[in-house]
Amino acid sequence: MRRHAAIIGGGIGGLATAIALGNDGWRVTVHERDAALPATGTALGMWPAALRALDAVKAGHAVRATGCPQESGEVRRPDGSRIVTIRTPAGGPVHLISRPALLGILHRAASAAADLRFADPVDDPARLDADLIVAADGVFSRTRERLFGPAYRARHSGATAWRGTVDGMATSTFVEVWGRGVNFGVTPQEGGRTNWFAAAAAPAGSFHPGAETAVLRRMFGGWAAPVGPVLEAVTEPGILRHDVYVTPPLPSHVSGNAVLIGDAHAMTPDLGRGACEALVDAVTLAACLRETSTTAEGLRDYDRRRRPVTRRLARMAGAAGRLSRVRHALPVRDGLLRASMLAGPPA
Ligand SMILES: Cc1cc2nc3c(=O)[nH]c(=O)nc-3n(C[C@H](O)[C@H](O)[C@H](O)COP(=O)(O)OP(=O)(O)OC[C@H]3O[C@@H](n4cnc5c(N)ncnc54)[C@H](O)[C@@H]3O)c2cc1C
Repeated sequence: MRRHAAIIGGGIGGLATAIALGNDGWRVTVHERDAALPATGTALGMWPAALRALDAVKAGHAVRATGCPQESGEVRRPDGSRIVTIRTPAGGPVHLISRPALLGILHRAASAAADLRFADPVDDPARLDADLIVAADGVFSRTRERLFGPAYRARHSGATAWRGTVDGMATSTFVEVWGRGVNFGVTPQEGGRTNWFAAAAAPAGSFHPGAETAVLRRMFGGWAAPVGPVLEAVTEPGILRHDVYVTPPLPSHVSGNAVLIGDAHAMTPDLGRGACEALVDAVTLAACLRETSTTAEGLRDYDRRRRPVTRRLARMAGAAGRLSRVRHALPVRDGLLRASMLAGPPA
């Protein structure tokens, strides 16, 4: 009889897992809380390891054809001077693709491989009858809390983020600008759009509904291009504002027949790697289950292969975020950033 996997969450990690397991002969059900895929969203950088994971679920070609390839980027100061060049790792360029486009590609493939149920939230995995339960329900994962307890609830990282896109203003470069405790990034996005993001330290929930544009213009006013022109073009309805949350390190990413993937064990977005690692989690999980004789053995193997890597990246992302929000001794900060780039981006 076919083994049955129940996947909680139909985001990037959940859909990729559905394709990978479905292609391996599993009967797969995806339970997604939302009624439909998101219609709007900003760009995600797909690093070479993520593109290889997408190839494994036969979605790499569509992502490369849709996304904007990027060989390098720069970190600058507000006056436009360069602090450091960011080189992408060996293995090819990073491809920037919007979340809706990526989810659309994954959804098309997952529809053929799995039973996808929208508007179907799962707050207690015990209600699911399956050989394998995959918690792909994001940073606020209810499944993680049920399995590991309230000590592993997501915690505010101390940072907040704004994101959006600007139409009719194409850019071909990835630029991140670091000021005094605040930063602003600009990247290309498919469809000739410009993707932007900003981050600052702020207490959780200190939002300004209807007035975020004014907050951003106060914070980043007078900064050199591309920040200035992008800020001029930003309009209030298009702004996404989220506080940044992380999960504490877990003793395991597996509990019984349940396994956490992607943001169910989240890092901060400072390396731009969360979605990439969700994809790598998905295909590694499928490979571990394929290469071992029991589900329990496969899950142990997955935990052994993925938990140390994602913990290391989470530590590096946290450190990068702290460095980017330094308010004093900026020349020392710039030197540390340059030194950290000498080894190249983390594999
Ligand atoms: C500002 C910012 C910039 C970023 N930039 C990048 C980048 O450049 N590159 C990159 O790789 N990553 C980036 N990330 C990280 C990336 O967005 C996440 O790591 C990624 O979305 C994680 O995917 P996921 O599928 O694990 O979780 P999610 O995308 O959060 O998906 C979880 C899914 O589960 C569903 N769900 C939640 N609860 C339930 C429930 N109880 N029952 C059923 N379904 C449920 C949700 O509706 C959602 O569809 C960025 C993040 C931020 C905040």
